Amino acid sequence: MSALQGRTAVVTGASRGIGRAIVRRLAAEGVRMVAVARSRDALEELARELPGTVIPAAADIRDPAAVDGVRDLALDRLGHVDILVNNAGVGHFGLIEELTPEQWDEMFDVNLKGAYLMCRAFVPHMKERRSGHIINIASVAGLVTFPRGAGYCASKWGVIALTETLIQELKPYELKVSAICPGSVQTHFGGTPPRDYSLRPEDVAEMVAVVASQPRGVILNQIVMRPLVPAALQGGQA
Ligand code: NAP
Repeated sequence: MSALQGRTAVVTGASRGIGRAIVRRLAAEGVRMVAVARSRDALEELARELPGTVIPAAADIRDPAAVDGVRDLALDRLGHVDILVNNAGVGHFGLIEELTPEQWDEMFDVNLKGAYLMCRAFVPHMKERRSGHIINIASVAGLVTFPRGAGYCASKWGVIALTETLIQELKPYELKVSAICPGSVQTHFGGTPPRDYSLRPEDVAEMVAVVASQPRGVILNQIVMRPLVPAALQGGQA
């Protein structure tokens, strides 16, 4: 039997891309979950695909009241929440003078404030139960920087800082906190066309299942995963 059979979760950014793959992967492990995003139709389609497993919650995670509504729905329908996956994110890429204040704000509001609001909503519940696992989908961009990535990298470095702080704050309650840091993934994230050697959303979803399945005594705090770039495309010498 899967280590995750019978567990419960909340997954943000579930309407497409990596989040949808995470929902499908956790459902295959026997997890029941609330799937969060703004696109109600896509969430309802996912719920029809995985009957009895997925509860759709259309919400904008930038809105504290909406996030509290997700928590209330999750606790009402699932009874308790074992795993919170903060996956929703947006990316805008450009030189510093090209990035607009609106793009900057959107990245910080979704990627960082959204994750903070979700943690703020669910941590008291997890502390009370002395059980729970927060898994943040950060990025390699949370560990390194690159030109045209100022706002995105800064927001993801923030997600790593949030993760590291929560590891310390929640340790006395025996709660687990993890960050998964993928390199490029085959989604339409940030408006860039996917490269066929990039990681697949299913690869990241598999890692979420691996991280969440560890025995009670084991914590995987940070996972860095990168695509294997074909040698012919790497430039330089082997
Ligand atoms: P995606 O296909 O664009 O999906 C983003 C998800 O976030 C969608 O479900 C979207 O749903 C949701 N979202 C955006 N704004 C939201 C808001 N205000 N409230 C609620 N949900 C919101 O992107 P992805 O590639 O799957 O990325 C998922 C995560 O992986 C992001 O955190 C991203 O930074 C990270 N990541 C991606 C890559 C990559 O190369 N793709 C690499 C490393 C890390 P709605 O639009 O329906 O709200």
